[in-house]
Amino acid sequence: MPLSAFTNVFAGNPLDRQSARRADPDWVEAQLAHPDARAVFLWNGKPLVTGEPGARTIAWGPSDLGRELGKSAERLLFLGLGGLGPVFAVDLEDAADPAEGPLKGRGEFEDLRTAAPGMPLPETGILATARSLFEWRRRHRFCSNCGQPSEVVDGGWKRICPACRTQHFPRTDPCVIMLPTFGDRCLLGRQASWPAGRFSALAGFVEPGESIEEACAREVIEESGLEVVSVRHHSSQPWPFPSNLMIGLLAEVSNDQAAPQDSELEAVIWVSRSEARRLLEGTLDGHLPPGDIAIARQLLAAWAYESA
Ligand SMILES: [Zn+2]
Repeated sequence: MPLSAFTNVFAGNPLDRQSARRADPDWVEAQLAHPDARAVFLWNGKPLVTGEPGARTIAWGPSDLGRELGKSAERLLFLGLGGLGPVFAVDLEDAADPAEGPLKGRGEFEDLRTAAPGMPLPETGILATARSLFEWRRRHRFCSNCGQPSEVVDGGWKRICPACRTQHFPRTDPCVIMLPTFGDRCLLGRQASWPAGRFSALAGFVEPGESIEEACAREVIEESGLEVVSVRHHSSQPWPFPSNLMIGLLAEVSNDQAAPQDSELEAVIWVSRSEARRLLEGTLDGHLPPGDIAIARQLLAAWAYESA
């Protein structure tokens, strides 16, 4: 049963992560040797996928091939137990495309943002988990306490420094993403770097010492000059580029005098519910909605279609 009314792309990973048992290297090794064990391959952050564009699925391979190509525990990640058996991910960083070498004929490597639309939701969750863990590994090979190379443990979910014994855990960086609302209108913003006409929700990182609600209020006043008076949670979304957790909020503000100053936004617009519905349907002249897999699109849809 879903935990919330809405599951975003990159959420919904169905695997049982076995957090306690993966700390035992012998148990992880036994999972890798299991006849039904399988692996998903990532090459420089891109997953190996198969099927037509817009209907991609994971191109699974046997765990033996994963072990052979991964070469060491450093590049292998135990993702969890699925209905069909143990599931691993393999991190490949060779210069040459493995889909033209040892993985030829199995699929192609594609940017996860491109592959995700149309992919089964549980598979997007599995790939988001693997990508975030491998991006963390790539950026945290050395102990941040003493500078020595660290070693992977717990099936890829932790690193330990052999010199000072500091434990290092994967990062998840929380971001608030919110739709300010006033009466029957909501505020959208656009950054200069976005495709022409695109408008989306406001967003920013939660800073140390801030609650989610406080981060939302600060970001809204920084980007639009508006005061938030109440915050409602909609849903959240892992965003593995590299390791964000997007926390989707609806934020009621005290007036409609938006005035972006010194903000990263080049423009803001107020839209009614009917205009928001047209924006989502692609019929609001000259305007583009948030991208298909973005939580911003789901926030806007939730507000545009909810009964007033
Ligand atoms: Zn250390």
